[in-house]
Amino acid sequence: MTTHALTCPHPATEAPPLLGEPLALEFVNTHYAVRGSLRDGLGRPDYLAWWLSMCRDRFSTELTDAALAAVDEADVVHFRELRDASRRLIDVRVEGGEPDSRDVAQVNRAGGLGRSWPILLWNPQQPPTVARLGAQGPLLEAQAELAHAVVTLLTAPQADVAACPGPGCVLFFERNPPRRAWCSPGCGNRARAARHYHRHRPAD
Ligand SMILES: [Zn+2]
Repeated sequence: MTTHALTCPHPATEAPPLLGEPLALEFVNTHYAVRGSLRDGLGRPDYLAWWLSMCRDRFSTELTDAALAAVDEADVVHFRELRDASRRLIDVRVEGGEPDSRDVAQVNRAGGLGRSWPILLWNPQQPPTVARLGAQGPLLEAQAELAHAVVTLLTAPQADVAACPGPGCVLFFERNPPRRAWCSPGCGNRARAARHYHRHRPAD
């Protein structure tokens, strides 16, 4: 197993955005663009570990430093497959079209990972204690939590999700407040600058 130290800031020069969106959107926004070129914020074990460490407060699964230091290439494959399926489904929800049944199956499969349940241990003359059965590790449970967040987002009638219209931007955001037009102020500024440029550039 490869292990690596958690590095902060992000090992890549431009980290994926963390915009405070609902967890499902934060997850799919690990597919992002920097100056027009697409990046994968989960594309390496250290990238995935970084993203999980930045978001760990949002999981009920305890993502310890030890768990994150053990993230490996197989985890990268699984999280990316879930992310890409989730992203396609959210895109269909926002833009319309037909969902791919394989993507639905992928999210549902992930949602069943890592299930554990409390069992009672109570021996005579001792206080009752609890243990967990079925626990398969925090990284599987984190995938399940992400899948549940995606299901919640896709099925919430009040969720108003939009694809950012910023130039070259591939992010999703929740329109909350409802008049919110961009994923971030940076995208709004870039769009205004682009409009200004097109209006004022010299005629050919
Ligand atoms: Zn944007």
